[in-house]
Amino acid sequence: MGYPRIGENRELKWLLESYWEGKTGEEELLNQAYKLEEENWRRQRDLGVEILPVGDFSLYDHMLDLAVTLDLVPGRFKSLQAASPLQVYFALARGAEGVKACALKKWFDTNYHYIVPEWEGEPRLKGNPYLESWERAQKSLGIKGKPVIPGPFTLVKLSGGYEDWKRALRSLVEPYGQLLKQLEKAGAEWVQMDEPALVLDLTAEEIQEMSRVYRELAGLTGIKIMLQTYFGYPSFYEEIIRWPVAGIGLDFVQGRHKNLEFMERHGFPPDKVLGAGVVNGRNVWRADLKNALSLVRGLLKKVDPERLWLQPSCSLIFLPLTTAREEAMPLALREGLSFAHERLKELRILKTALVKGEDEVKEELEKASRARESLAAMPGRVVPAVRERLASLQDKDFVRGLAYKERKVLQEKAFNLPLLPTTSIGSLPQTKEVRSVRARWRRGEISDEEYREFLQREIARWIKFQEEIGMDVLVHGEFERPDMVEFFAAKLPGFYITQNGWVQSYGSRCTKPPILYGDIWREQPLTVAEITYAQSLTAKPVKGIMTGPVTMMKWSFVRDDIPEEEIAYQLALALRDEIRELEEKGIRVIQVDEPALREALPLREESREAYLGWATRSFRLATSQVKPETQVHTHMCYGELGEVISAIEEMDVDVVSLEAARGGEGLLQRLQQHPFARGIGLGVFDVHSPYVPEADQMVSFLRRILKIFRPEQVWVNPDCGLKTRQEPETKEALERMVAAARLLREELAR
Ligand code: GLN
Ligand code: ZN
Repeated sequence: MGYPRIGENRELKWLLESYWEGKTGEEELLNQAYKLEEENWRRQRDLGVEILPVGDFSLYDHMLDLAVTLDLVPGRFKSLQAASPLQVYFALARGAEGVKACALKKWFDTNYHYIVPEWEGEPRLKGNPYLESWERAQKSLGIKGKPVIPGPFTLVKLSGGYEDWKRALRSLVEPYGQLLKQLEKAGAEWVQMDEPALVLDLTAEEIQEMSRVYRELAGLTGIKIMLQTYFGYPSFYEEIIRWPVAGIGLDFVQGRHKNLEFMERHGFPPDKVLGAGVVNGRNVWRADLKNALSLVRGLLKKVDPERLWLQPSCSLIFLPLTTAREEAMPLALREGLSFAHERLKELRILKTALVKGEDEVKEELEKASRARESLAAMPGRVVPAVRERLASLQDKDFVRGLAYKERKVLQEKAFNLPLLPTTSIGSLPQTKEVRSVRARWRRGEISDEEYREFLQREIARWIKFQEEIGMDVLVHGEFERPDMVEFFAAKLPGFYITQNGWVQSYGSRCTKPPILYGDIWREQPLTVAEITYAQSLTAKPVKGIMTGPVTMMKWSFVRDDIPEEEIAYQLALALRDEIRELEEKGIRVIQVDEPALREALPLREESREAYLGWATRSFRLATSQVKPETQVHTHMCYGELGEVISAIEEMDVDVVSLEAARGGEGLLQRLQQHPFARGIGLGVFDVHSPYVPEADQMVSFLRRILKIFRPEQVWVNPDCGLKTRQEPETKEALERMVAAARLLREELAR
């Protein structure tokens, strides 16, 4: 259904970076990219894929490819006169001199980011990269591939800038029709139209409009359409199966229960192909093949074998390429995992078992069960002490000793902070020097002692700066953390950090999600050394900052043998122990970051309450034991935070800092309607922009905030961590921020 684009050694990344630096020309870029695309096809074919996806490879992002194909290019890019089409393409993704890039957003609830298409004017077909890719596959491998194209409804759902969604959707019929006709004419038999938006909560009207579009498309061309859903089950199954498409793809991993129920209740049309997603495209655990076999046998009672395709639950771009590159991994873990290649092998085994009989693949099936058993028995998978601690938790472990109002009085006395206290979110610039010293330490070129001294010098320098400019609650700077999840994962038993488990995050950016395979507990201090050192240098409070359970889970591959809730509580208990030690050593402000709390929100309303329940309980489990005088903060960013405001109340925090500089309007409106009664800091400057606003811009933003909240509630802070910023601009921004707070403080005092 789609294959990782980046290459075994992240070739695509290096290629793009070299092109952007001007070291590789356009032609060379394309040649190399096509080579990679071809290698990807060969791999899949060699692994037994019979219906080969084409057109899913992308130089940057598949939504961007579609936007450009349909000429959804905003006017501001058309002013880039001298630019080649490829330069315009990258400008949409990354911006250009004086031209702002299109927004970047998470693809459904995955960690992959897509470029948000912006509508300006009517879509029209401009080129056909799907056809070009199809032709390349035919030429190089002699294969008639299956082009993969995001469908019109998903496009409309995920894009912006149009006035009327119905009109927008209808206007897509013509260009899509042409595109499909061209493919048909060239000889393509099938096309995969990705419509993951079908698994969202939809209205009857949306379905009706969509049905109309697919009917019209079917009238325009004879190409066979595989209407592909994934990430759950489709709304209105009984409607969809009546659409004039040749196939319907269902996700029997994430949407298993409901999809089976639908098929039971409404059957499956005898004239259509069922694309059965039976192995997980989003998580890394080796499939239970026996279970998958019985699933498919069940499906074969409703669908003829000629009309059933075996496929992963979704594209494989969410998985690393292959476990074969993990030489250092404990064998039981490695054998218990399936990355992209291993997933394809699983499909092959399933097919052989079904077509030729299980005896044919007896060994493979046994090997798979043994591997799953070894994983389950792996050291660290079940730690009795962790399980016992979890089992003995009581309600009181989730609540703070005093209610917020009473704590607030004690905290005011203890801290004696001015009105509008100033602070930052945690990280300070990770300069080239910081990164290179860390790299040298990792290579063993400098000793632990030298590395520690270096970190201490950085901490001391920045504590001094924060004191000098008059910040009120200080941070140590997080210089020791290359990444807010990996840093903790590396110290916690139960996590494994892969050598090569890269997945694409966006464009040339890749991440290496840790693998959470075992029980989690705090074997050693996580943050104590750096934070207590920072606190020893100043009389002002220094925040003890750590990453919260939901974010740790969301940005990792997480075991699937115990409920998420339990994993969250294990992580919470590890943090609870850390916080206890920090408190004992004199740290009086604790901040547990949950930037991923919003993005982990389930796609469907029906699952949200349960999720928010355990997510907020895990936060309270981590933080609730602290003394009433200890101030608990959280920080959140990414996406429509308005939707989780009530969850922040549930977390029972003393102070929250939220991203607000970009897209803050909606949040402010929401806060106006549902006032939040605790300490709140709405980011006064955007940490993702190198442009530093003037102090009076910050002042006017704060004035708006002061219309919604009482002055005693308002904190002054940036939007997020300052890790990616340069040192001079960071200093300037923080100075202006403190100046803005002071000015308003004086005004309020008068
Ligand atoms: N404390 C973290 C930092 O400042 C928070 C990062 C985040 O929210 N993404 O870097
Ligand atoms: Zn943030």
